[in-house]
Amino acid sequence: MTVLERYAEIEAKMAKAAAEAAREDGGAELVAVSKTFGPEDILPVIEAGHRVFGENRVQEAEGKWPGLREKFPGIELHLIGPLQSNKAADAVALFDVIETIDREKIARALKAEMDKQGRQLTCYVQVNTGLEPQKAGIAPADTARFVAFCRSELGLAVEGLMCIPPADENPGPHFALLRKLARESDVAKLSMGMSGDFETAIGFGATSVRVGSAIFGSR
Ligand SMILES: *Cc1c(COP(=O)(O)O)cnc(C)c1O
Repeated sequence: MTVLERYAEIEAKMAKAAAEAAREDGGAELVAVSKTFGPEDILPVIEAGHRVFGENRVQEAEGKWPGLREKFPGIELHLIGPLQSNKAADAVALFDVIETIDREKIARALKAEMDKQGRQLTCYVQVNTGLEPQKAGIAPADTARFVAFCRSELGLAVEGLMCIPPADENPGPHFALLRKLARESDVAKLSMGMSGDFETAIGFGATSVRVGSAIFGSR
């Protein structure tokens, strides 16, 4: 199958999962994760009308997206990988949504850059639902406090929560936990679900799913 055929198949599977879950909001948005793939792989998806993409490294994204953006208006770029403070300026300049805010230092650095550049980005807080030591994200028990800090102390527009469940566990309880944490903090958006579990995530109320290899192929 071509990239375009796989893209169409994912869109169809997402619609089916939304219908099966009786989602009245129309289901989830697709963030097409294009990390490690070049413009030649991404182009067919853009030409098919898709505009929302995810990248996990600032530097890699800087190498391919400015050129694509110039040719195709309306691209919305999500940062879905860990961010270091020294890359905050570059991230704010290039991305539209930062999904991986998980500590005060990076929240402060992003806010300072947004003010400096006059660009207020949409922010998501990443939650480490499995409390995995090697994984980024705020602990579930600290999420409400951290979201409140980002909003009231810094004035960041926290619109969503994001999680990556442990690879070897049933993701359902993690998606349910993220949804519960979002409700507690009055957060509207839920970024959850990847190639292997996006249909499950849609059943648990994902407002966006991050799908890479199922569209672009294995990395
Ligand atoms: C790579 C990545 C994805 C996409 O993963 P696939 O399994 O290829 O769909 C989603 N979310 C994050 C945070 C990623 O780094």
